[in-house]
Amino acid sequence: MTKVPFQAFDQHHPPAPELINQCVHCGFCLPACPTYVLWGNEMDSPRGRIYLMKMASEGATAMTDKWVRHMDTCLGCMSCMTACPSGVDYAKLIEATRAQIERRHPRSTAERFQRWMIFNTFPRVDRLRLLRPLFRAYQKSGLQALVRASGLLKLLPKQLSAMEELMPKLGVSDRIAPVTPAQGQQRKRVGLLLGCVQREFMPEINAATVRVLAAEGCEVIAPPDQPCCGALMVHAGEETPALDLARRVIDVFEQAQVDVIITNAGGCGSNVRDYGYQLRDDPQYAERAAVFSAKCKDISEFLVELGPRTERKPLNMRVAYHDSCHLQHAQRVRTQPRVLLSAIPGVEMQDLPEAALCCGSAGIYNLVQPETADALADRKARHITGVRPDVVATGNIGCMLQIAAALERQGQKTRVAHTIQIVDASINGWPVPQK
Ligand code: SF4
Ligand code: SF4
Repeated sequence: MTKVPFQAFDQHHPPAPELINQCVHCGFCLPACPTYVLWGNEMDSPRGRIYLMKMASEGATAMTDKWVRHMDTCLGCMSCMTACPSGVDYAKLIEATRAQIERRHPRSTAERFQRWMIFNTFPRVDRLRLLRPLFRAYQKSGLQALVRASGLLKLLPKQLSAMEELMPKLGVSDRIAPVTPAQGQQRKRVGLLLGCVQREFMPEINAATVRVLAAEGCEVIAPPDQPCCGALMVHAGEETPALDLARRVIDVFEQAQVDVIITNAGGCGSNVRDYGYQLRDDPQYAERAAVFSAKCKDISEFLVELGPRTERKPLNMRVAYHDSCHLQHAQRVRTQPRVLLSAIPGVEMQDLPEAALCCGSAGIYNLVQPETADALADRKARHITGVRPDVVATGNIGCMLQIAAALERQGQKTRVAHTIQIVDASINGWPVPQK
């Protein structure tokens, strides 16, 4: 047997050669790839990254720092999957590659510390709940305004200041009831995935989701003991803890006995729809995970299928819809949010240029690769400013925070809201809230 010169991958789910070999190197994906658009470098394109995976898979390269850097700069936005005529499943390739990197590549102390901080805070709902009053006091006391005005943030490493810049304005905590009855005759019994950061830092999105579902005749079950779904971890290669969270989420929702599981964050939605694949080797969970995944639907997709029963009151405003990558590319949910929004009397929809291009949020990308993330967000904000909407709507908390921070950097006051908050405002005759 010929010995390969390098053994970059171990035997636990390396990027599958049959998926790698589906790429015919046509390059159709290149203009859709944000990092290729920014830098024009082949190795920072989908085709280049797949080629690097192929080299590693065939033993032609080791997992060098440079090789890892090209994988780290990938946003995991899956825009290349939409663009690819050959149906290359890049999502499976990059997820397998990232898990290999985290097992086999020694990261620097600074990187390890930052990742430790992120993964010990964001997916931990209990810890976020403890931090919330501290952050709220920081904002309410005027300290945040002082810190921002002082220029102190510029002295911090960008990886730290990015966290501060992205922090949403924290209001009063909106706890979601474990059971919310349907209004009028019940049409469905649905479960709601509450998320982690969203549950504690922007609970108003879940509150709006519950109100709309109940108004449309759904009983909403929101199990309070559900953990984070593991999206941030799985997309960053932290496979073992992500799968532990997936198992717990499945356990909790099996007990809830619901017809459908509603997600309202693009990244979480694409992750839970993939549990069946992620847990394919687990004899106890494989089948249950597939059943769970098949029940998951984005809120916009679900509401369009259900059909409206409640009257929409007019909202006279121009709305630019920003597609979250994990909603449009990974879940293929593009038309439904537009259908929901354009059904509101008085709403005028506006198209954004480069709608398929990521805003730079991408899970933890805006924290670990903040310069690239900012470049993409600033580009997105310039496109938004160009069409002058009253509100930017989107279906993912990460995009909301990322776009709002970029608009603020550019001195723009355009409101940013979740799609469901706009529908909720229309049903209740309220103004659309600000991020
Ligand atoms: S996932 Fe996004 S950033 Fe990564 S290669 Fe594909 S298009 Fe480029
Ligand atoms: S479009 Fe698909 S087949 Fe063509 S280079 Fe990109 S990934 Fe490969």
